[in-house]
Amino acid sequence: MIDKQYIISRFIKYVTIDTESNPENPAFPSSENQWDLAKVLEKELNEIGMQDVELDENCYIMATLPSNLNYEVPTIGFIAHMDTSPDFTGNNVKPQIVENYDGKDIILNAAKNIVLSPDYFDDLLQYKGQTLITTDGTTLLGADDKAGITEIVSAMEHLIEHPEIKHGKIRICFTPDEEVGKGAHLFDVEKFGAEWAYTMDGSQIGELEYENFNAASALVTITGKIVHPGYAKGKMINSLLIANEYIAAVPAEEVPEKTTDYEGFFHLHDVKGNVEKTVLEYIIRDHDLDIFEKRKYLMQKIAFDMNEELGQDLISLDIKNQYFNMKEKIVPVMHIVDIVEEVMKDIGIQPLIKPIRGGTDGSQLSYKGLPCPNIFAGGHNFHGRFEYVPVESMLKATEVIVGIAKSIPEKYK
Ligand SMILES: [Zn+2]
Repeated sequence: MIDKQYIISRFIKYVTIDTESNPENPAFPSSENQWDLAKVLEKELNEIGMQDVELDENCYIMATLPSNLNYEVPTIGFIAHMDTSPDFTGNNVKPQIVENYDGKDIILNAAKNIVLSPDYFDDLLQYKGQTLITTDGTTLLGADDKAGITEIVSAMEHLIEHPEIKHGKIRICFTPDEEVGKGAHLFDVEKFGAEWAYTMDGSQIGELEYENFNAASALVTITGKIVHPGYAKGKMINSLLIANEYIAAVPAEEVPEKTTDYEGFFHLHDVKGNVEKTVLEYIIRDHDLDIFEKRKYLMQKIAFDMNEELGQDLISLDIKNQYFNMKEKIVPVMHIVDIVEEVMKDIGIQPLIKPIRGGTDGSQLSYKGLPCPNIFAGGHNFHGRFEYVPVESMLKATEVIVGIAKSIPEKYK
């Protein structure tokens, strides 16, 4: 239904524009280069015939596909993000196209001996015979989330070119700064005006997600006392050694590298210190809100008990909630997930419903009043040089969007 070459060239156009976001920059958007893609999209949305195309001062683009029905149905939305992860460079992406993939190693970069191998990434094998788009081994690809943008634009274009397909009003939005956790911050839910929406930001074909972590950060600050080591007896307090004790008191089995599915964790991701002061940076994650609260309590209690034992308050804790599990907001409107499941089955995709071990813009949007499950965009190995996307998965995701649009008038007749 949608031309494959067309999808490929649209996708390549987007990924060759560098939109890496910058966690160090408090400005909005966090990098100027995100405007480059935003302007391209603004122009393209106008060209394909979208209405009310608006790029706002914070680099959010919204547009409307008006209803072609003569009765009222709910307005729905589709959302994707324009930035790529600062974890790996997105500068000078040179996509490579592997046609009719043979199931063997893919040489990404012969000179640097960088190989994308199914021995390590066995998901590759499910795409034998398909067309893969990979990197040249020196950058990430940016299928996260430019595959999502490609699919939304292509689906809208398809609906515009086929007015015989009946659909209600559809709103779309492309956001900046998702990868630095701010994509939902300045999202104007009221202006968007959809009853619910979907982020097209999942990974492999079939993924459908409406549960994510509850998340908090914890900053543990330990204050020591520095004295000349030669005269330190009974006087010096070495914050590094106290930090070591604190780290040892946090459950060692409940860490990212030893947990999966619904298991939560404590993750120590940064330590900075000297004798006088040591700062430990943790993140706390759990799908279950009660257990999440208990995890936060445990970190407080360790500090409290150690302070008691030390006889002074040397350890202080600063815990901040980051985001919450969207499940709470989705379960009351579960039909918005059921619709997608039906559409996927109708077009021969096996739905893969599983909890996200992270967060999404969708979780924040759900708490801002826009319930927002996440649908696959098709890519794999996000945020690094081994990122790739099968073109067939992008085509299927585009079909899912069209299918959802089509199913609304039938459901709300
Ligand atoms: Zn993403």
